[in-house]
Amino acid sequence: MGEFRSGYVSIIGRPNVGKSTLLNALLGQKVSIVTSRPQTTRNRIIGIKSLPNAQVIFIDTPGIHTPRSKMGQFMLREALRSIRDVDVVLLMVEPRPPGAQELGLLQRLRKAAKPVFLLINKIDKVKKPTLLPVIDAYAKEFDFAHILPVSALKGEGLGELLELLLRHLPPGPRYYPEELVTDQLERFMVAEIVREKVMEATREEVPHAVAVEVLRWEEPPGGPVRIEANIWVERPGQKGIIIGKGGQRLKAIGTKAREEIEGLLNARVFLQLWVKLKQKWRSDEQALSELGLK
Ligand code: GDP
Ligand code: MG
Repeated sequence: MGEFRSGYVSIIGRPNVGKSTLLNALLGQKVSIVTSRPQTTRNRIIGIKSLPNAQVIFIDTPGIHTPRSKMGQFMLREALRSIRDVDVVLLMVEPRPPGAQELGLLQRLRKAAKPVFLLINKIDKVKKPTLLPVIDAYAKEFDFAHILPVSALKGEGLGELLELLLRHLPPGPRYYPEELVTDQLERFMVAEIVREKVMEATREEVPHAVAVEVLRWEEPPGGPVRIEANIWVERPGQKGIIIGKGGQRLKAIGTKAREEIEGLLNARVFLQLWVKLKQKWRSDEQALSELGLK
């Protein structure tokens, strides 16, 4: 089996080159949601591939596709900055020699000093012999870790891709629960952060009897991310402990949680917390599943 491996992978390339198709093919139907939230300048996780001995976390690098927009330079810089934090970069291209845009991107990728896999996609559309000059042209421009002709649509070459990816991931933990689906991920992490801050602030006074439920999550353009969450407790006394005198403790919990969430999301956050009483929620199957703990 070997050591457990995990790490972050970004998929970059022009629009329509087949990035979403690749993700869906790699992740399977279970995680076919490629998040529909409008693009922001921050990184986000778009898929997690959980295997018995590895976990691959795919990261979107917003803006890398739009270097010509008004925000172009900024977004491109952000996207490239995000590449610094991943373990492997997958550059997906059409089955034709590199154009100016691809060459520009490669130029910048050079500075990232990362393993970059070149995925030449849509090979089902072209004749094999036409691929060789494409491979040559790219190989001349950049020292790729691997060059793989694939068809995201037909699933060709994807097994090999995954195998090679795993070899480039460092030993690491299973970062996320195996069964987690993509669009729940940020909510899950936010709930965990709030819960952690509650536990830190209350110590033995409120032992584990807390669940956090994210109620609302909005990302208005130009504004902070607005998140509302309930902190559920089992006993009336615990409610008072968490809220504290004049609401001071809850305020402190909220501040600490917000700061950490802002770091996670790389965005300003407006966090609103409520403490609610749910009698015996821990023994209530229905309540557990409502709270996403089942
Ligand atoms: P993205 O913008 O990079 O995410 O590209 P999409 O995944 O949305 O794909 C754009 C189009 O290319 C869609 O119509 C796909 O069906 C098609 N496509 C993706 N991969 C392949 C492939 O391997 N072969 C062929 N023939 N078409 C593909
Ligand atoms: Mg897409």
